[in-house]
Amino acid sequence: MPYPELDVPIRILLGPGPSMVHPRVLRAMATPLIGHLDPAFFQMMGEVQALLRYTFQTKNWFTVVIPGTGSAGMEAALANFIEPGDSVLICVNGYFGERMFEMALRYGAQVHRLDKPWGEIFTPEEVDKALREHPSKLVAIVHAETSTGVLQPLEGLAEVVHNHGALLLVDTVTSLGGVPVKVDAWDLDIVYSATQKALNAPPGLAPLTLSQRAEEALKERQTPVRSWYLDLTLHSKYWGAERAYHHTAPISMMYALREALRIIDEEGLERRWRRHERNAQLLWEGLEDLGLELYVPEEYRLPTLTTVRVPEDVNERYARRRLLEDYNIEIAGGLGALKGKVWRIGLMGYAARRENVLMLLAAMKHILQK
Ligand SMILES: *Cc1c(COP(=O)(O)O)cnc(C)c1O
Repeated sequence: MPYPELDVPIRILLGPGPSMVHPRVLRAMATPLIGHLDPAFFQMMGEVQALLRYTFQTKNWFTVVIPGTGSAGMEAALANFIEPGDSVLICVNGYFGERMFEMALRYGAQVHRLDKPWGEIFTPEEVDKALREHPSKLVAIVHAETSTGVLQPLEGLAEVVHNHGALLLVDTVTSLGGVPVKVDAWDLDIVYSATQKALNAPPGLAPLTLSQRAEEALKERQTPVRSWYLDLTLHSKYWGAERAYHHTAPISMMYALREALRIIDEEGLERRWRRHERNAQLLWEGLEDLGLELYVPEEYRLPTLTTVRVPEDVNERYARRRLLEDYNIEIAGGLGALKGKVWRIGLMGYAARRENVLMLLAAMKHILQK
């Protein structure tokens, strides 16, 4: 018996990712393939780099796209700047900081953790103190912690890190394209993101950019990067003038990313950030009107991802099932320490729209009343 044609439900994706993909991006993905060494593809790579520099707010020459999801970006960032025995400092206040810690250990670093309770932020003073106690080559921190809904302030942090002679590595997976990310103004060294959150392309690519300082550190490595696939020096020979084959670029995903970035460029970052802020405010007010309590204090609440406490008398998973099955809306439950305790609601890029917020609030009201 033949299998039927693929038929999936049409969902409103308001979880922590993947986010909703703009129809223009889906159309771009249907473009016929060309080769990864075709001059027309090289030209397109150049356009993607230029658009990414705008989105990251940087002039960094080393601005590339890693094949793989956000975790590939994370792994490339850590693998290339850790040599066995290197001392590194990882800031952990959520699930993704924990993942960075785990990866750094696997690459043979001597890893120091700076821990804060889930839902809190780090201050430059705390990082300074930790670096005094544990001099390190690298400091890694998550800008938008998708597990908690916290936006980590980054202004002033690089100065502290650089004063200790270290590099600053930042995860901007859930911030890029939704809230301000200013790589040059904030003097960040190693920064990566992912396509399926506020950039609104499918999962599968991880944009990554390196400061001059980071590029120099890469050149000074004494040992080869343990991951051949994620070796950034090899990637740079494909993205740079040599155009040397390293891996087959995911062609259709590059079409998707180009279109997603073009949409961001058309809207303009400032307007896009304001749109996220406005719709997040609407969501926050609406959730509080429903009698729900937001998990993160407003001053460092993340517009792209909101965490809200599940009331004691509500079955967390059942409520989410109802949202999905009766309203076609996806949100997520808590991760790790927040499992069963919060819902996570994403408003990312294309999905950060007034009508989506109002529809979700109406659906939640119905479900909570029952
Ligand atoms: C989603 C996410 C990642 C991991 O990305 P994958 O695409 O799932 O591999 C890393 N960091 C943060 C902050 C994320 O939200």
